[in-house]
Amino acid sequence: MNLSHIVTGWSKSLGVMKVNDAERKLSEERMNKCAVCPFAKESSFLKLFRGKAEDIKTIYCRKCGCPVNEKTLVAEEQCPENKW
Ligand code: SF4
Repeated sequence: MNLSHIVTGWSKSLGVMKVNDAERKLSEERMNKCAVCPFAKESSFLKLFRGKAEDIKTIYCRKCGCPVNEKTLVAEEQCPENKW
């Protein structure tokens, strides 16, 4: 993900930017493919946002290193294995 896509993906993931119905549907379709992909890896991190700290479980792609939830929310992003 380039810097612009990183900012967009995280802004949508955190609710700073709105996600429309088409984007949500596209993200869900992509996430379903990531969920069964051998390159997907579960991870967790501490999220500090709006004065709160939360332990967040997430899935990263071992092929490109991106967090897949945020990656799938950016329409212009592509799977490095051409699965979506
Ligand atoms: S982005 Fe592609 S390669 Fe990475 S976990 Fe998802 S389906 Fe697999």
